[in-house]
Amino acid sequence: MSEFLAYLTAGSPFDISIKSTSQSKITPSDIAACMSKFDTHTYLYALGKFCLDLNVIDRLLFFGELSARNKSWVKNIDDLKMAETLAKAALSDALGFNQCHHCNGTGEVAEKAEIKSCPNCNGKGQINFTEQNIADSLNITRHQFRKIKHRYTELLSEYNNMEIDIHFVIKEKLGF
Ligand SMILES: [Zn+2]
Repeated sequence: MSEFLAYLTAGSPFDISIKSTSQSKITPSDIAACMSKFDTHTYLYALGKFCLDLNVIDRLLFFGELSARNKSWVKNIDDLKMAETLAKAALSDALGFNQCHHCNGTGEVAEKAEIKSCPNCNGKGQINFTEQNIADSLNITRHQFRKIKHRYTELLSEYNNMEIDIHFVIKEKLGF
């Protein structure tokens, strides 16, 4: 499916016809019909997740934060800030972006003309979305995070639902 969705990235030639596994031609109008079923958020997520189109990330984050800010558990300014941080983590988690920002994925940092193992990722270059590092990004303890973990799970499940929708629509419309 990612191959198919690659045709939908910005700048890709739309006047081509590609063959599905059933040997019938898929036309640009088929693709358009397929995409029209999605809302903007889901559409952008499909591009970000399956086409690795990094141009959509800012807009995806905008929608993610918007959704998080409107949750019923947002009651004050602290909740609002938390919603935005959780939205960022959930989007990165859903997209599989887990490169360490401290060392940019190299696992090493320069410190006083010395190269040291990155303390943020323990030299791995990647961080896992564990309870501890999401809690760290929120400046709360792991114990405190556990109490509000359902908020994070809620945001993450929205992306899971989008993936189910995307798979379903493409399978139904195009027979992949
Ligand atoms: Zn690192």
